[in-house]
Amino acid sequence: MIETLESGFQSVGQASARRIARHAAERGHSGPTLLVHGPPGSGKRAFVDDLLALAFCIEPDASRRPCNACRGCRDARARAHPDLVIGSTDAWREQRSTGESIVAAARRWLLDAAGAPVVGERRVVLIEHADHANEQVQNALLKALEEPTDRHTFILVADEPSRLLPTIRSRCQPLRIGRVPHDELVAHLMNRRSLPADQAEALARIADGLSATALRFADRADLLDWRRRLHAELLSLLERGRADRFAAIGDLLDEAGRLDAPLPETPVDADGETVRTPASAQRAAALIIVDAWLSLARDLLVAAAGRAELAPGTELSPEVARIGLRLGTAPIIRVIRLLERIHDGLRENAAPRLALEAAMLTWPQLER
Ligand SMILES: [Zn+2]
Repeated sequence: MIETLESGFQSVGQASARRIARHAAERGHSGPTLLVHGPPGSGKRAFVDDLLALAFCIEPDASRRPCNACRGCRDARARAHPDLVIGSTDAWREQRSTGESIVAAARRWLLDAAGAPVVGERRVVLIEHADHANEQVQNALLKALEEPTDRHTFILVADEPSRLLPTIRSRCQPLRIGRVPHDELVAHLMNRRSLPADQAEALARIADGLSATALRFADRADLLDWRRRLHAELLSLLERGRADRFAAIGDLLDEAGRLDAPLPETPVDADGETVRTPASAQRAAALIIVDAWLSLARDLLVAAAGRAELAPGTELSPEVARIGLRLGTAPIIRVIRLLERIHDGLRENAAPRLALEAAMLTWPQLER
């Protein structure tokens, strides 16, 4: 495991984010607020675990941090260090006392978080899903960031940094967590999950370079089976009319819902339980359908263009290759654009069933 020996980081890739993080740590941790951002499933949580270990490691030789052996590293990775406080909009919402607004709850929490460190010299204040906070809550957060002390380091985590106030962003050192190069992700999957090379290859491709998504698929064989069935159903719907397509949506949502697939990086409460409501569960189901649908559409596009070499990680099934050629590129590009918009809409607040109906209407029609 070259990656571990080299750095002590356990997440994969992200060379420039690592470099910035190490630099910040060497400066004595009192630098600017860190903003860890990247798409869902990219592995922000694993990267933050590395940041926390780096911050709390007590190995005397700073160049060997995080050592992953000391108590500081262990407590940091378990997110149980006495000097770590973790907040999020979902947590503040739940911590409200009767009649209290979420802003008031957030202010109260931030005031508590400003307390003195217990064990070490510094407290780390980790705010997850910072981009989910409304403007008032962000203003309360901004106020806390405007009064920096050398005893506190803030780490903000966000899918969409553009949803943060510019005044917050300007106070942050951004650490972008992105897609991992194919070969690096394959090696990581082989190391971490003891997977054979061909399986690791397939997962890295399915996850489109997103490391947390790839690991999730590695841990859930039922997700892969479901994905295969979904692709077969979508291909057969190419030959069926609107009524059949709309009728299929309910079953697709039910089946995806039964997978109980965690949205990558869904809010987690103090006991480590994922926070789910019926509405968020249905959106999660629709999102994994749209993700899998997009990857099928992209494979079809590669086949339609007759340019498999453009997607070197791709291994097209003969059926996909044949259907792609029959469809041609234009209708597939149209559906890909729509699915991408739907994906973003679902992450906001779009209605899952309506979103899938729109996708079904744009899914091309093949003569039998
Ligand atoms: Zn350590």
